[in-house]
Amino acid sequence: MRFSRLLIPTTKETPNDATLASHIYLIRGGFIQSVGGSGLYNFLPLGKKVLDKVRAVVKDELDKAGCQEVSLSFVTPASLWQESGRFEKYGKELLRFKDRKNNDFILGPTHEEMMVNLVRQSVKSYKQLPLNLYQINLKFRDEIRPRFGLMRGREFLMKDGYSFHASQEDMQREFALMEETYKKIFTRLGLEFRVVEADSGAIGGSGSKEFMVLADSGEDTIVVCDSCEYGANIEAAVRKEKACEAEGPEAVFAKFHTPETETIEELSKFFHVDPYYLVKTVAKKALFDEGETKVVLFALRGSDDLQEVKACNAVNANDLVDISEEELAQLGLVAGYMGPTVVPEGVSVVLDNNLKEANSMICGANEKDYHLIGNSFIGVEADYHDLVAVQEGDLCSCCGESMRYTKGIEAGHIFQLGTQYSEPLGANFLDENGKAQPMVMGTYGIGVSRLLAAIIEQNHDDKGCIWTKESTPFNLQIIISNIKDDEQVALGEKLYEALKSKGLDVLLDDRKERFGPKIKDYELLGVPHAVIIGKKLQDGFVEFVTRVGLVKEEVSADTILDVVTQKVL
Ligand code: ATP
Ligand code: MG
Repeated sequence: MRFSRLLIPTTKETPNDATLASHIYLIRGGFIQSVGGSGLYNFLPLGKKVLDKVRAVVKDELDKAGCQEVSLSFVTPASLWQESGRFEKYGKELLRFKDRKNNDFILGPTHEEMMVNLVRQSVKSYKQLPLNLYQINLKFRDEIRPRFGLMRGREFLMKDGYSFHASQEDMQREFALMEETYKKIFTRLGLEFRVVEADSGAIGGSGSKEFMVLADSGEDTIVVCDSCEYGANIEAAVRKEKACEAEGPEAVFAKFHTPETETIEELSKFFHVDPYYLVKTVAKKALFDEGETKVVLFALRGSDDLQEVKACNAVNANDLVDISEEELAQLGLVAGYMGPTVVPEGVSVVLDNNLKEANSMICGANEKDYHLIGNSFIGVEADYHDLVAVQEGDLCSCCGESMRYTKGIEAGHIFQLGTQYSEPLGANFLDENGKAQPMVMGTYGIGVSRLLAAIIEQNHDDKGCIWTKESTPFNLQIIISNIKDDEQVALGEKLYEALKSKGLDVLLDDRKERFGPKIKDYELLGVPHAVIIGKKLQDGFVEFVTRVGLVKEEVSADTILDVVTQKVL
């Protein structure tokens, strides 16, 4: 394509709201254009080209894995979401509206209900299963804080796939196949990524995995082990059980006067005891459906911190919120002196797994200025859950080596759904014995437009974008330095035609511009390779440029066609 004919409105100006490299360069490079500054974007020709390339890689690998592409209506009847119970639950991210006949609709933020509806109408027998259907379509989420350009838009392009099975085992087979397929997709796109265990709410286990593109700018904290493959979202991370070298305090059970010991630190100093032997008790108000609430005390070792998502899942709540000291007082609880052993009526207790069989523990007495010493949890039956936030330096549960935190961009998410949607929506099939059963489902997402941002977060320098081989809008850019020089133009045109006929996608910079702005645009746009046809052509030379590191090689004009073919194709 000819630069002179393309709409590539590059600019030197950084948008006010942009802090991330991907946001800045995608706008400055004329790939995308903000619409009204609220998480809505137009894709300009170059942006659309990259989006299509990424989309093609996603589609190619999914089709190879036996998935089938469909395209579902973006506008979704609210009735389907009422059937699943999500219409009320989903919150403000769901854009609801009415048509002229006063019927309720939504703009799909995800399409489980729609796909189940599609399948329940046409699939009746186990003989038609398994099925994996996907689409690459728009989604709308009225995000509270749309930001970072394509990273968190309100309207965005998602690949969403849904699989349907006659058994749990078959769904798990497909889940593993999708994990492999996603790995191929992200590898082809040239991304450095980790597959991590994700929070899967009530399902637990390895029922949910996220594909994290590693980048310092990522919004998610992930825990990784460098000695093995283990990686997990902070909300799902587990560790090898911690031991403590210090001895536990020997004491018989007693109530102890402990004034001014409201923090773990103060208490540890007071008793000269390692926080490992103190019980940290955190009070939260758990919110449930229909306005129901419950006060819960989460107790764990003083050396550990509470992971709130784990805590929320432990009580199956929709959310956890803080409680004021006044509210605590009304219930008979005292901030700084709370404990899980003797609690006022109406208050629930959840204990961390690390307290199971713990001995010599000190905890709050639920009375001002008092703690209980000599507590034992040996043989104590209680509601135990994993509540711990894994810290850097904690040991890996797989290999025992030390783990660390890193940042990631969630680019994909695969999830074992089970019958969560097929049951309420009545998506049943007849099994081999003629018995009706709900279909077992998996769901698989990729943030296709977010991937553009993720690729640039991982591949850029202080001058602009650096596209990877399979994502780049062009394989090569030919820059004619001086458009008035007939010899330069002739070589540029010849090379352009020859490479096009070899199947290369080439951008010919034939603009009547000075060389300076042309090279600046090249650096900003980030095509992996360029040929610069400049003054040295008089001596028979051109320059071959590699965008990574902006490395330049002088190449004889006679051999440039071969060099490009060899290095770029
Ligand atoms: P996040 O935690 O980032 O909000 P999510 O867990 O809500 O994402 P999913 O429902 O799993 O997202 O959606 C599948 C994929 O869609 C995500 O893995 C992500 O790549 C992408 N995605 C989600 N929300 C957005 C958004 N607002 N803008 C762009 N891409 C998004
Ligand atoms: Mg997700």
